Amino acid sequence: MQKSDEVDILVIGGGPAGSTAASMAAKSGLSVKVCERSKFPREHVGESLLPASIGILEELGLNEAISNAGFLPKYGATMVWGKDETPWSWRFSETNKQNIHSYQVSRPIFDEILLKRSAELGVLVEEESSVSKILTDDSNRGVVVTNKMGQEYFQPAKFIVDASGQSALLARNFDLRQWDEHFQNLAIYGYFAGAKKLDAPNENNIFIESYENGWVWAIPLNDDTTSVGAVVDSNESNAKLRKTDPITFLKDQLSMTNRTSHMLSEAELKSDVKILKDWSYTTSKMAGDGWVLAGDAACFIDPLFSSGVHLAMMSGVLASAYAVTCLKDKILGIESASVYETTFRQEYDHFRDLALLFYSSNRTVDSYFWEARRIFKEENYFSDRISFIRAVSGQSVRGYERVALERGELPNEFMSAMSLHNKKSEDRNAKLLSIQDSILEKIPCLAPEAELEKKPVLAEGEFEWGTVITTPYRKEGVPCSNFVANLLMEIDGEKSLSKIVEGLSTSASEDTKKQLLKYSIEAISILFIEGVIDNLD
Ligand SMILES: Cc1cc2nc3c(=O)[nH]c(=O)nc-3n(C[C@H](O)[C@H](O)[C@H](O)COP(=O)(O)OP(=O)(O)OC[C@H]3O[C@@H](n4cnc5c(N)ncnc54)[C@H](O)[C@@H]3O)c2cc1C
Repeated sequence: MQKSDEVDILVIGGGPAGSTAASMAAKSGLSVKVCERSKFPREHVGESLLPASIGILEELGLNEAISNAGFLPKYGATMVWGKDETPWSWRFSETNKQNIHSYQVSRPIFDEILLKRSAELGVLVEEESSVSKILTDDSNRGVVVTNKMGQEYFQPAKFIVDASGQSALLARNFDLRQWDEHFQNLAIYGYFAGAKKLDAPNENNIFIESYENGWVWAIPLNDDTTSVGAVVDSNESNAKLRKTDPITFLKDQLSMTNRTSHMLSEAELKSDVKILKDWSYTTSKMAGDGWVLAGDAACFIDPLFSSGVHLAMMSGVLASAYAVTCLKDKILGIESASVYETTFRQEYDHFRDLALLFYSSNRTVDSYFWEARRIFKEENYFSDRISFIRAVSGQSVRGYERVALERGELPNEFMSAMSLHNKKSEDRNAKLLSIQDSILEKIPCLAPEAELEKKPVLAEGEFEWGTVITTPYRKEGVPCSNFVANLLMEIDGEKSLSKIVEGLSTSASEDTKKQLLKYSIEAISILFIEGVIDNLD
């Protein structure tokens, strides 16, 4: 078998995860190659993006290209969920002041823009090149590729990023994949012309409607096309699909909906109807010696919250940082593996928790689909409330899901967990207000579960050593400045805040002392609201 020249990083798959990882690694000055099985532009479902991807697009230098591509700006979502047939909408701007919109994209075009950008940044992009084997040994690392001429060759690489999407090449080879028993659905979808739009100002929103057999999406695209699909039970639907063709099956499902069927009353199906296994999964290990999994190659969650491309691009950035770090500093690289995995999993779990809640909250619909998904009938489901509270506690940068959750028909147990959490935050705010004139005399105490740890933190395109505060809500840790770290290390449950700052600023000038005092009050106040500081008495 022929052998190619070794590259620093070999990326399998040129979807959003692979192209983002490749571009970021190329920006760090490494030699990078992408092997992509298809010829782009290639078909792909998943058109509705989240504002969380906008920052990464900027980082990739794609702002202009994306805004010039003619994609519809998406300002929010509209839902009919449960018995109440009145649609309700929420806008990203309600909670995200920085990026108030994302886009509804044609995925073939969007993915191609991203992959072309990788090539512009110096990545060697080889399309129609399929990877069939991965070798991860330190002494013989690389992949076996079949190129478009049908020739097989070995591509040596110092590091491998698997971004092969649901093919999940490495996870399957190493038997790492773990299926999620709660989300074993099937998606069936097609593209319609001439669908009615939602009323302004929600005309570009994704529309989601639950119905007896599951839920449907309608995503308006820029050329009078609407992507329409149904998410239904896998077993039940497969049985039905053995007796009928996909077009009839999809149309039957859509006819059971109230609003979507009205939106499509004069529309025409203008594509094939595709069926996809929509089973959620994760992997038991996402990063190892010389390899990392990014995007769907690592985990996939039901598309209810349109989170797939965001997770793919976010993990692409992190995967590149992990690879770059491993190649520069092996010890820091080893430590970074768990940071990569915890950060990615935390974001994934956030969307999984939300999806679980939404599926469970559709209590008013009696059908096999919804009954099977009412997990809250299980005893003690809420005994571990932490992940749910985290999902809505506003710690997420997007936060708009909180609005959705507050408006849904959520289980009482969840609502009481949430109001307890909100009450705690209100009490803390009130307490802070009442002690603002005497805060310097107060003695701060760290919450028992809050810890200060030295860990790799994401810096410019790679990990570096830093200090993080970990809490049960933020297991991956929130990086903090040296100043905040020093402040926290001085907290012993005996010294007042003024004594702590005095100790930290003995040799500083009067002006600097004043500044430090001001920063300390600000930092302690924020940490108190977030629960890192437990007591201020
Ligand atoms: C029904 C459904 C609806 C969805 N809706 C949305 C949505 O509205 N919004 C959203 O954000 N997400 C949505 N998603 C999820 C989203 O599409 C994916 O999460 C996203 O595409 C993941 O990106 P990726 O780069 O990891 O994988 P992919 O985009 O799948 O890219 C993987 C690439 O790897 C290539 N590849 C595979 N095997 C090999 C190999 N052996 N050798 C070389 N190359 C290979 C493939 O050709 C492909 O180009 C949806 C998913 C489903 C199933």
